[in-house]
Amino acid sequence: MKIKIPENVNRIIEKIQSAGFEAYAVGGCIRDSVMGLVPHDWDICTSAMPEETLAVLNKTNIITNGLKHGTVTVKFDDELYEITTFRIDGVYNDNRRPESVTFVRSLREDLARRDFTVNALAYNNDKGLCDFFGGVEDIENHIIRCVGEPDKRFREDGLRILRALRFAARLGFSVEKETAAAIHRNAELLRNISAERISNELVGIIDGEYVEKILLEYADVLCVFIPEIRKMTGFEQHNPHHIYDIWTHTVKVVSHSPHGKISRLAALFHDISKPECYSTDEKGIGHFHGHPERGAEKARNIMKRLKIDNKTMDKVCLLIKFHDVRPEVNPRNVRRLISRVGAENFNSLMQLKAADAMGQNPDLLNEKLDYIERLEKIFEEQTADGQQFNLKTLRINGRDLIDMGITDGKTIGRILGYLLDGVINGDLKNEHHELMNSAKKCIDKQK
Ligand code: ATP
Ligand code: MG
Repeated sequence: MKIKIPENVNRIIEKIQSAGFEAYAVGGCIRDSVMGLVPHDWDICTSAMPEETLAVLNKTNIITNGLKHGTVTVKFDDELYEITTFRIDGVYNDNRRPESVTFVRSLREDLARRDFTVNALAYNNDKGLCDFFGGVEDIENHIIRCVGEPDKRFREDGLRILRALRFAARLGFSVEKETAAAIHRNAELLRNISAERISNELVGIIDGEYVEKILLEYADVLCVFIPEIRKMTGFEQHNPHHIYDIWTHTVKVVSHSPHGKISRLAALFHDISKPECYSTDEKGIGHFHGHPERGAEKARNIMKRLKIDNKTMDKVCLLIKFHDVRPEVNPRNVRRLISRVGAENFNSLMQLKAADAMGQNPDLLNEKLDYIERLEKIFEEQTADGQQFNLKTLRINGRDLIDMGITDGKTIGRILGYLLDGVINGDLKNEHHELMNSAKKCIDKQK
């Protein structure tokens, strides 16, 4: 099999080779190339010791802070390339990282310490593809399989559990039977992994094209760090809008949401409070009153625990809080909604609502999508001239009121708020003169 290695990568490999060492492109970039995907970065492994690599590369454009673990980073045309010395990992005491690493001179040993067969591949133009563990066959059969004995590999590094699910969700692979069983068996090991590393992998998993199957099969793994999910699984909704239990519905909403951290986290958590908000009416129909507001709070707690950044958290909570609003379609209601959620979040909210509908009773889907489209159309019309129905785009400001002789900040705020309400309600046009006149009337009335 021939793989096209980028010019810069090849230059590095050849330079190291010409000094008498081995060097290969390795890991994810070879996996992606074999699959016909475009790798997002290229890692290199070598038999040269870090100091030898440094010497070969003349110390130009070099970043040396990973040296202890055997990694030399070079910058070429603004791209970073990691060159790592063949190594085997020492003893793992904390299911996280080896106590020490040992440099070795054999490629095979280096590939043996890698997580999955599909990642244990190396390539250079002389030797071609080096595949000691059946990685190519597993790629062809769409299988994620540990290199070596799965239990042992997960005990060494618990994060590999989530890495397996991430690769499966992204590539559409299944996890091989023994590896899958070991994942379920060892899921508790994730307790030893830091929140940051877990949430990184979580986002990678839910952003995957093939996330649906993975979330359905591995809910128990997610429950280790998001135990709130447990109540959702198998929770029947007893409502004509729904044909799935809460977790199955949630998983479908995730997979129908646009890619991206915010959209996918919002989908994952949008119904997180449904279990505790459940009630049935006299006809036996299930309802979930208040679940969006409570869900936003609960999701915030979960995301805090997972150390997700504040900006992401705020957006996700906003989307959750408003995911179930269903105003009657008219311009005034749309303006109100824009002013509540912010024009910049409106489309994301509509996308969440659409994904939500796609995870519900298919008989009602078209009706729901049509409703969302009508809201979107009015949104476009109402914001076409750059209006956002907030104080920033109101065509009168504090300065104008000060010029009219109002000096008290509170009064200025109140008048501006009154005018903004007028614009949102449709009583006033967002037009400077009209707003000035209205402000004058307001002031006169107060005198
Ligand atoms: P991605 O496309 O997500 O970057 P990748 O396979 O390149 O996928 P990286 O995290 O960049 O993943 O790691 C590069 C390579 O290092 C992997 O392909 C794998 O061979 C090895 N590796 C990374 N993390 C681990 C780990 N926790 N345990 C064992 N091997 C690992
Ligand atoms: Mg990579």
